[in-house]
Amino acid sequence: MSTEPRQIRLIMELRQLGISDAEVLGAIERVPREMFVPEQFRDQAYENTALPIGAGQTISQPLVVALMTQALKLGERMRVLEIGTGSGYQAAVLSHLCRRVYTIERHPTLLKEAEARFKELGLHNVTAMTGNGIAGWPEQAPFPRILATAAAVEAPPALLDQLDVGGIMVIPIGANASDQNVVRLTRREDGFESETLWPVRFVPMIGD
Ligand code: SAH
Repeated sequence: MSTEPRQIRLIMELRQLGISDAEVLGAIERVPREMFVPEQFRDQAYENTALPIGAGQTISQPLVVALMTQALKLGERMRVLEIGTGSGYQAAVLSHLCRRVYTIERHPTLLKEAEARFKELGLHNVTAMTGNGIAGWPEQAPFPRILATAAAVEAPPALLDQLDVGGIMVIPIGANASDQNVVRLTRREDGFESETLWPVRFVPMIGD
């Protein structure tokens, strides 16, 4: 699929906003965001904004997708767990940067639509399931990388448990929508190192 002028403009905008990782920009360039938004928002698909995707949920702003992906420091041989598949857009971006993406979504209808997109795009290294992401994916654990795209009051213990030593989890943390930050947790032998990265606004992780 050839890159549209609108998409090239978005990539240039992300670069100006400080996204310096060429691999992350390359992965974003490979994913046609218009396929992940409802018909009536297609004309805004390459604008740097979050958009509604149904079920009261949103596809994240491209800048936030880029920042969170960059913060994960992915390696091409890694397996990644994502909580909150939503439209599937973030998972599609991750799929170009790692070996396999496991993604969990609580809304069956959103998951079904996302899976259809993965299939249409030939993204065979994405495995998706309906469920409560707070419990993680024990059968596939541990993971070297975990990305949550819904906000929690604190990092769910099961997810911390399922992170490899040396592994990284990126997760929006905050008591409410107006007070959330993306946090990067790195698991050490003796505990977790925590870095607060930037303020964000994500929908809540339900059942938290
Ligand atoms: N990554 C998505 C955007 C995420 S929006 C994209 O690229 O489009 C957050 C998503 O997390 C929503 O779809 C919501 O239904 C889901 N979610 C919220 N709590 C969850 C939970 N406990 N387990 C799994 N999914 C959850």
